[in-house]
Amino acid sequence: MIIVVSPDATPDDLDHIVARVEETGRTAHLSVGTERSIIGVIGPDDPTLQDVFEALPHVESVHRVTKPYKLVSRDFHPADTIVEVGQGVTVGGVELAVMAGPCSIENEAHIFDAARAVKAAGANMLRGGAYKPRSSPYAFRGLGPEGLAYLAAAGAESGLPVITELMSVRDIDAVCRYTDVIQVGARNMQNFILLDEVGKVKKPVMLKRALSGQIEEWLLAAEYILAQGNPNVILCERGIRTFETAYRNTFDVNAIPLVKELSHLPVIADPSHGTGKVGLVTPVAMAGIAAGADGLMIEVHNSPEHALSDGAQSLTYEKFGIMMRSVAAVAAAVERTLTGVRTPAAVR
Ligand code: PEP
Ligand code: MN
Repeated sequence: MIIVVSPDATPDDLDHIVARVEETGRTAHLSVGTERSIIGVIGPDDPTLQDVFEALPHVESVHRVTKPYKLVSRDFHPADTIVEVGQGVTVGGVELAVMAGPCSIENEAHIFDAARAVKAAGANMLRGGAYKPRSSPYAFRGLGPEGLAYLAAAGAESGLPVITELMSVRDIDAVCRYTDVIQVGARNMQNFILLDEVGKVKKPVMLKRALSGQIEEWLLAAEYILAQGNPNVILCERGIRTFETAYRNTFDVNAIPLVKELSHLPVIADPSHGTGKVGLVTPVAMAGIAAGADGLMIEVHNSPEHALSDGAQSLTYEKFGIMMRSVAAVAAAVERTLTGVRTPAAVR
């Protein structure tokens, strides 16, 4: 249920309404807006409470919410959420967030080199996996804790906050110690125990859409994290599995404006996993930003043919620089900024 409070309500009036909600055994989530404040009521649905809340002073209207997710929905929280990830970087504002780096952290020198290269091209976050979900148990599965330390050191040297994947609750302390943003990968979108645990920490979490995840399932997965008390959630569209085999995944550009309409959480586009093909990454990155994404996740490697994972979709440093300039031009058209990038006009 959502309680819309009239603009003349004082903080004391809001407290009174919240107290009345809590007396019914439900939880109240207050979202103070510039025009109106909204109180989201979480708990068992009881239609008779609509009249009870409507009779309270300063209550303008009360609506029942039929969607299964609540805290992530725009109904509960009309304003965009802006997630602060550290070192002055935010995800969800006018400035786009660009997370770039290799699929896997391969060794110390390699991640330092990648950090400098992506920073020079205008990225504002460094990515790299230390725990890799691989289809084959014989493939490179990441350096584990050693890789986390290299990533954090490379991020510190280049002044970039870092993001890395957490695959198991087993590694949550190590990952939290070294990372600024915890990535929950596509294969773990519905690992509900993992979602509960990342909900109990305050670090931002980037939740990737599952290979066959429906929008509602994805938003409900995010709801798990918010329901545990962590509001710092970023969504990431990384392509879904369809009948098409000409590319690795089908990047679902529709999902971006739809999720932005349904939810206040920021959304990142990942055209690297979303296409699996290096030649498609730049056009799909541009499409993602044009569709309203709040940023990008891009895999970059100095020598993609030697990459220990996902070489086929990794941009060279040079191609990444070109991509950033193309994306900056689209960003300007949709009134977003990429301050680290010189636009093609400025380059000339
Ligand atoms: C990754 O970011 O390297 C990754 C494994 O992503 P996804 O979970 O989307 O496959
Ligand atoms: Mn990858």
